Amino acid sequence: MADLTRDVVVIGAGAAGLTAATEVKKAGLSVAVLEARDRVGGRLWTDTIEGAMLEIGGQWVSPDQDALKETIAELGLETYSRYREGDSVYVGPDGTLHRFTGEMFPVAPETEKTIAEITERLDAMVAEIDPDAPWAHPRAAEWDEVSWDAWLRAQTDDDEAVRNLAFATGSAMLTKPTHAFSLLQSLLMAASAGSYSNLVDADFILDKRVVGGLQQVPLLLAERLGDDVFLGQPVRTIEWSDAGATVISDGMTVHARHVVLALAPVLYNRISFVPALPRLQHQMHQHISMGFVIKVHAVYDRPFWREQGLSGTAFSPYELCHEAYDNTNHGDERGTLVGFVSDRNADDLFRLSAEERKERILESLAHYYGPEAKNPAVYYESDWGSEEWTRGAYAASFDLGGLHRYGADLRTPVGPISFACSDMAGAGYQHVDGAIRMGRFAAAGILDRARG
Ligand code: FAD
Repeated sequence: MADLTRDVVVIGAGAAGLTAATEVKKAGLSVAVLEARDRVGGRLWTDTIEGAMLEIGGQWVSPDQDALKETIAELGLETYSRYREGDSVYVGPDGTLHRFTGEMFPVAPETEKTIAEITERLDAMVAEIDPDAPWAHPRAAEWDEVSWDAWLRAQTDDDEAVRNLAFATGSAMLTKPTHAFSLLQSLLMAASAGSYSNLVDADFILDKRVVGGLQQVPLLLAERLGDDVFLGQPVRTIEWSDAGATVISDGMTVHARHVVLALAPVLYNRISFVPALPRLQHQMHQHISMGFVIKVHAVYDRPFWREQGLSGTAFSPYELCHEAYDNTNHGDERGTLVGFVSDRNADDLFRLSAEERKERILESLAHYYGPEAKNPAVYYESDWGSEEWTRGAYAASFDLGGLHRYGADLRTPVGPISFACSDMAGAGYQHVDGAIRMGRFAAAGILDRARG
């Protein structure tokens, strides 16, 4: 069993942990990164499935994500735009397919007016929210007590307007039923992307991809850290005091002055803390949970939808796949569609056999793109719920009331232990950008303390 001594030990080799390790090493501290899996990247994972390169986890980069964009540029990676020429499609409440362009769904004029009015109201509220401190807003307590669904339904009786407004932060982002999280949590999600309008603008939020896949960010960061990254080392125990910690994984013991816990908060309880973490952390961490979404990849011999003048962008709050996009890889002759099935729909599908599930999902894609969608050459479902070291997708959020009650304490270090993860970010919350920001934030705190 290897026994090491370092200034800093980072637990988790996702974007957050590898950024923290890079920053402290750059400042001259010694570091070890312990990763449970046999690969780096965490929720970033590019793999080849039956000859098709698929981004199983995170992939898109949006224009506001400065921390991620800086990292991509610094690592010398190239980006390309998502294909978006042609019409988008929308399936309405009666199952009718509508083609449209622009951001507004092709709904009845009164519904469109209602959506526009509520969007304006939401943008004004979001503009008052500091994504790094949503709990500090004067109405934060009130907004955290009402569910996103209840608030929307109090604004209008128009069910189609509510469903279309709800899914931007519900199925499409927090991936929980809209009654399960608060208006404040929803406003944070929007504020983390700049505005509610940005969040619903697919051309903004799903703008670019990295040539070769976004997992290259953690892969290249890890390559630079070299022998300081240790794979297959699930950390089981952290013995800590104000003076430092001993971190014990399956194959190693690391003694360090500082610890960065760079994993999803839902996994903290997999680790034995000796002594136990304080009461506040025990309570707080129980109010955070992962959302759940299935990311479906369907690869065809050609992007056939483009021949019909379709961009591949598809939405419907009435469909099993509530959103889908052209996800063709850079320079690939084949065409790839990516669709998403969220929260309760995802639960229901996993009660079916794999064959039935595939049939139901492809049927939903066929509602958008026609019968050809039913016969992909390669079909794959990303199932992060069954990944032991993640347990959901895309990320974690507080239950009703939790953000106001505990949010301010989530990033506060405990003794030598700092916390870093996209799940606790302000700007870039739940995204790779937020993971990088939190990695930098934890590193800056450690460097301050090391100097002080
Ligand atoms: P993680 O990536 O979860 O890293 C934590 C690491 O800790 C993991 O490697 C884990 O194995 C390790 N670990 C856990 N427990 C232990 C332990 N006890 N000991 C040692 N190691 C441990 N974001 C975007 O920006 N754009 C997107 O398009 C996008 N799409 C997404 C699609 C999917 C399907 C998913 C799942 C996520 C998506 N995201 C997207 C979110 C983004 O991928 C994550 O927010 C981000 O990668 C999280 O990084 P992290 O370092 O904070 O956490």
